[in-house]
Order: sequence, then C-alpha cells, then structure tokens
Amino acid sequence: MKWAMIATWRMAIDGITEGSQLLKEGKRAGEAVETAIKMVEDYPFYKSVGYGGLPNENCEVELDAAYMDGDTLSIGAIGGIRDFKNPISIAKKLSEERFNCFLVGTGAEDYARKNGFERVNMLTDRAKQYYEKRKRETIEKGLSPYAGHDTVGMIALDCNKKMVAGTSTSGLFMKRRGRVGDSPVSGSGFYVDSEVGGASATGLGEDLMKGCISYEIVRLMREGYHPQEAADKAVSDLNDKLTKRRGKSGDLSVVCLNNKGKFGVATNIEGFTFSVITEEQKPTVYLCENENGKTTYEPASEEWLEAYLKRIKSPITFD
Ligand code: ASP
Repeated sequence: MKWAMIATWRMAIDGITEGSQLLKEGKRAGEAVETAIKMVEDYPFYKSVGYGGLPNENCEVELDAAYMDGDTLSIGAIGGIRDFKNPISIAKKLSEERFNCFLVGTGAEDYARKNGFERVNMLTDRAKQYYEKRKRETIEKGLSPYAGHDTVGMIALDCNKKMVAGTSTSGLFMKRRGRVGDSPVSGSGFYVDSEVGGASATGLGEDLMKGCISYEIVRLMREGYHPQEAADKAVSDLNDKLTKRRGKSGDLSVVCLNNKGKFGVATNIEGFTFSVITEEQKPTVYLCENENGKTTYEPASEEWLEAYLKRIKSPITFD
C-alpha cells in the first residue's frame, strides 16, 4: 500500500478526503495532515476543535495541538493557545525548532504572532450559547460539567513511506483555565515512527495520559502486533488497569496505522467513529462497537450520516 490516512471521528472525513488528494499526487504526509486538520479546525459546527471549539469554565476557547514527523521524530506542540486560527499549523512550524518546541498559553501566542499566524476570535455565538445551556444543566444543578470533548487525531502514510501524526482540540469542555489534555503530549495523544507506524487518541485526557497510550500502541506494533490487535490490547489493558486501581476508566478511543498501510481502532465507549481512506479504500466513516475487549466496526449508513449533519447544525435550545 502506497498511502493511507486515518483519523478519529466522523468530523475528519472531508479533511482526509482533501488530504489524500495530496498523497495521491505524491505530496508529503505532513502537508496532507495539515490540510486535513485545518479543514476540521475551520468548520464552525465541529464543536470540539478549532473555530467554534468548546470553551473552558471562563467561557474562553483554549486550544491544544501537536504535529509529529515519523522520520525525524521531530515534535511541535501547543497547549492552551487562544485566538489563533489554525493551531495545527503552529504546531507544525514548532516541530522545526530544535529547542522550545512545546509552548503553552501566552508563550505559544507570542510565537504564533511573531511567526505571522492569523489571529481570529475563536469563540462563536453558538459556542457561547452551548456554554450557557450546559452551565445551567450541570454546574448550576451541582452536576459535573465534564461531558463534552473530542479531538481530531490523525495519522498519514505517504508514497515515500514517511508517516506523520497530528492532533487538534479544544480539550475538555468546561475545563479549568490552563488545563492541558493528552492531545499535545507526545506518547499520549499521538506518536509516530515511520519505521513502525503511528497512533492517536481521543477521550478523557487525564486517563489517556496514565497509559501513554499512543506510544504503547506503536511499541506493540514494533513487537509485531497487527495494528488492530495493538489497539485492542492497549485500550483494554489501560481500561482494566484503571478500573482495578481507581474503580473506573474514562473514555479511551484510539486509531492507528502501520507503515504498510494497515490500520486498527479500539474504544471502550459506545458511539466512537473514525474516518479512513487508503489507496484501496474510498473515504469511509465507520461506527465502532466493543465487546469483551475486541473492537468491531461497520460503515456508517446514509441515514446515520444525514442525521449526524442535522444534529451538529441543529439550533441550541434552552428548556
Ligand atoms: N483527549 C482530549 C482531552 O482530554 C479530548 C478528547 O479527545 O475527547 O483534552
């Protein structure tokens, strides 16, 4: 297999379709990942990434992103950046730095400004309405507000056998100001080594980080596990460990791709979706199920895809 792209969630399908055009033309995995993730960041109705992302408890949008080059192992990452349009592009640029390649908050913003990245107010009216609604439904009733998140996490393999990983997210909805999740943290939200493969995670960052889950999947693939077995093993081992030691596990979902273009996915939740395109397979959204530590998936139906688009665009109503 010459090229492939896989990403967490349905929201990535248009991005990977566009990104894969570049791979078909022989362009680099990095360009494909940046193009694909920017599309997700720019679309206001994907409410957990980029423009229109979910605000923190102060109703500010703080974004995390990362980029990793699987040939050189260079990493660029940002945490808690405010009001810049495309966090993935800033992370990609940072991956060129020998030092200071993971920046947070105002430091990340200074870097972005100096390097000419576009400033945009990332808080939309829709996100504000959603924040108000959820505040009334949770915090004001004494309930936990931590229910909404989702990261676009992506791996690409290009015709030169180079692999790249990227992530972008607004992180945990209603998070404390300054909270950074797994998405920009190497080995947790993402990891890629072109000699083996790459992985990316979505779910509760606080728990994904306890297992360095993306690194663990790449390590298992290096040991000879098929990507599907590696993904299932990493998710079910971490889920079991957290359940045993802490009484429960948060949401853990992963996608991975090896350097032959074979992919794997695993989840411990209901409703995890992912998007994939390879030289042999048209862009497809899959819905996952997990039974006894084994993840299975099937293509989303036309009805499901239509209902999804309707749902993400539906007006936010207050009771
Ligand atoms: N893992 C992200 C975080 O905790 C959120 C997500 O992927 O759902 O920030």
